[in-house]
Amino acid sequence: MAEVISSVKRSASDSVVAVPKPGCQFASDNAAGFCPEAWQSLERANSGHVPSYGDDQWTSRASDLIREVFEHSAEVFFVFNGTAANSLALAAMCQSYHAILCHELAHIETDECGAPQFFSNGTKILLASGERGKLAPSAITQAVERRRDIHYPKPRVVSVTQATELSTVYSIDELSAIHDACQRHGLRLHMDGARFANAVASLDVLPRQITWEAGVDVLCLGGTKNGMGMGEAIIFFKKELADEFAYRCKQAGQLASKMRYLTAPWVGLLESGAWLTNARRANAAAARLEVGLAAIPGVEVLGKRDANAVFARLPDTLAASLRAKGWKFYDFIGSGGCRFMCSWATTDADVDALLADSK
Ligand SMILES: *Cc1c(COP(=O)(O)O)cnc(C)c1O
Repeated sequence: MAEVISSVKRSASDSVVAVPKPGCQFASDNAAGFCPEAWQSLERANSGHVPSYGDDQWTSRASDLIREVFEHSAEVFFVFNGTAANSLALAAMCQSYHAILCHELAHIETDECGAPQFFSNGTKILLASGERGKLAPSAITQAVERRRDIHYPKPRVVSVTQATELSTVYSIDELSAIHDACQRHGLRLHMDGARFANAVASLDVLPRQITWEAGVDVLCLGGTKNGMGMGEAIIFFKKELADEFAYRCKQAGQLASKMRYLTAPWVGLLESGAWLTNARRANAAAARLEVGLAAIPGVEVLGKRDANAVFARLPDTLAASLRAKGWKFYDFIGSGGCRFMCSWATTDADVDALLADSK
């Protein structure tokens, strides 16, 4: 594994030597490996016997670091992936007869195989619209007012994704307008933060400003796409919602017995500040790619990008020739076009090689 880490390019300046081989660089940010900070911390944790199921110092340190970063005495839990984090958090915020409102492109609707409904014993997801992947406050009100009778599931939670599935971000003002709508209608606010760090980097704000200060009750904070091998944190700013949550995690098969291996990488990411530098690097790679793609005749960049993905419409022949050369990217996500997703490990040379193959 040492080779893997040492072969990872850390900065723009050391990335000009070799042209990288086409591959998964742009398929998803979960195609990247561990970042060195998370990996080294994992390695440090790999010594001796320590208490299991989260009663260890790595887990308490990771929880404390999260509370420091968010400047809040939140309740923190660690699970293996984002589907579990979202589903269990939402289940804790709902009864089975409730409904969750989210954008029609939300991961909880399109990419979690019904897990939010499953773990909440049947809670319904209601879809609402909004420009650029962002839920519009008026759409929340419409969804609530459409039906108020006993025969329809009662809206209880709004879920927003930050950064969104379309690589945009909610500003502080946009979040507070959503929070206003939530308050008017008695709704709780959940945030899917699989790419939360990319949103913080893009907005250049403090984590608290786009979470609890903006009315977010529960945040699912992504570790995997940010530079870990696996693992997400569930952060309850409204602590009463965390009541008995540990049992939910255990029942769902999400309580790691060797918890230190889920939490030590968090310590490395958070102590070093890599959580933010990784996100900045991924966003910067996407910015470079966006400029480069926009300059290629026949390529149309779709929408304004805030975070680490670029959506673009490519001529069919170009998309096919890139794929034939070995490049991987998706074209079924979001609102049409190809998605090029950058990660902490995407180098300028990766971006430039893709652009060179596009010309
Ligand atoms: C990747 C992702 C998740 C988590 O997905 P898992 O594969 O379950 O870890 C959640 N929400 C969004 C928006 C994502 O992009």
